[in-house]
Amino acid sequence: MDFEFTKEQLLLKKMIQDFAKNEVAPLADELDKTGHFPVETFAKMAKLGLMGLNIPKEYGGQGLPDSCKVMVISELAKACASTAEAYAVHLLVNYIINKFGSEEQKKEFLPRAAAGELGAFCLTEPGAGSDAGSLQTFAQPDGDYFIINGSKCFISNLSETEGSFAVFITLPDRVKKNHGGMTAFLVDRRTPGFEIGKIEDKMGIRGASVCEVVFSDMRVHKSCILGKPGEGFKVAMGGLDSGRIGIAAQSCGVAEAALNEAIAYAKTRVQFGKPIADKQGIQFYLAEMATKVEAAYLLTYKAASMFDTNQPAGKNASMAKFYASETANEVAARAFQIHGGYGYMKDYPIERIYRDARILTVYEGTSEVQKTVISRALLK
Ligand SMILES: Cc1cc2nc3c(=O)[nH]c(=O)nc-3n(C[C@H](O)[C@H](O)[C@H](O)COP(=O)(O)OP(=O)(O)OC[C@H]3O[C@@H](n4cnc5c(N)ncnc54)[C@H](O)[C@@H]3O)c2cc1C
Repeated sequence: MDFEFTKEQLLLKKMIQDFAKNEVAPLADELDKTGHFPVETFAKMAKLGLMGLNIPKEYGGQGLPDSCKVMVISELAKACASTAEAYAVHLLVNYIINKFGSEEQKKEFLPRAAAGELGAFCLTEPGAGSDAGSLQTFAQPDGDYFIINGSKCFISNLSETEGSFAVFITLPDRVKKNHGGMTAFLVDRRTPGFEIGKIEDKMGIRGASVCEVVFSDMRVHKSCILGKPGEGFKVAMGGLDSGRIGIAAQSCGVAEAALNEAIAYAKTRVQFGKPIADKQGIQFYLAEMATKVEAAYLLTYKAASMFDTNQPAGKNASMAKFYASETANEVAARAFQIHGGYGYMKDYPIERIYRDARILTVYEGTSEVQKTVISRALLK
């Protein structure tokens, strides 16, 4: 067992820490206030090779393992949870294309992704959230084509750039089937036949973008199918195993940011003639928070390492996502409490971090869904 990073990983860590400090953190408040999506940051990340982090070198990426993904996403999340979320979704789509795509799809889309075109993952529908098997968006076969009708909601990244692409998971015909009938399509954002609907006004991660997508007779060639026809559920769940490690990493970063804010505040806030950090009650809070943050990182790196060594990692990805996201909420709430009334004011970063943390136990599978995955694995 080895808890040390390699020399290359340490170099990557230093690079991403510098980038996050100089280019990401200074924008976090502004993105939160304005809801601006940080396209400029992703252009800079593409130049540094970060948009193709998990894309094999032959398709223009870095070919780095999931442990590096954890490092990059968590460092970004420490600086800005919105930027980390959009990036985590992008890496999830890279992963899906590389794992399930045909050679033609990989050659077409992976170099574009590495160059900075953002990916989107379109699974959720108004009536199908946790119950992803009950989709109502249909693809009607028409010769070599499929005609897609329906809508998706809460889709990250898609509204923001013209140059992007998406994986849509849908049903192959109008006969309602269980998830065995789902099919995934990989589609260029410029394909006619779909429109961006409502762009959501969110409580947190306000610099990330989430929208509704409406399909009206969108015509896609059968070569757009990702994986095999009828295996869309496998594509979706395979992607989510990897994606959950990404959100666990985002959660670790948010939790660590909250802990750092609490430590800094406790050292400077004087009450009863001394910094509140001198009080054992506050010290014990900080000790509990730091222990949980460390445990969240360990679970997340373990799940990533299992992924990297081709071990079945679904249960561990869910454990990491469940624990890290609950920890981020708990630590953010405690850090907020340590700030007293000032934590409620927008002058202090903890106000934003507390709101940003709230979504972590919900997307890419709620905590309840993660517990279902974990207990199913235990009981099978
Ligand atoms: C900011 C944001 C970004 C998102 N980005 C994307 C994206 O890019 N792509 C995408 O496809 N989706 C995305 N989503 C959707 C997200 O994955 C879903 O919101 C999430 O899976 C939960 O679905 P739901 O909101 O419909 O809640 P529901 O499924 O309606 O759940 C409501 C409550 O019921 C509980 N529940 C449901 N079923 C069970 C059960 N069997 N046992 C116990 N409890 C249960 C849930 O845990 C939850 O507490 C995003 C959502 C948000 C808010």
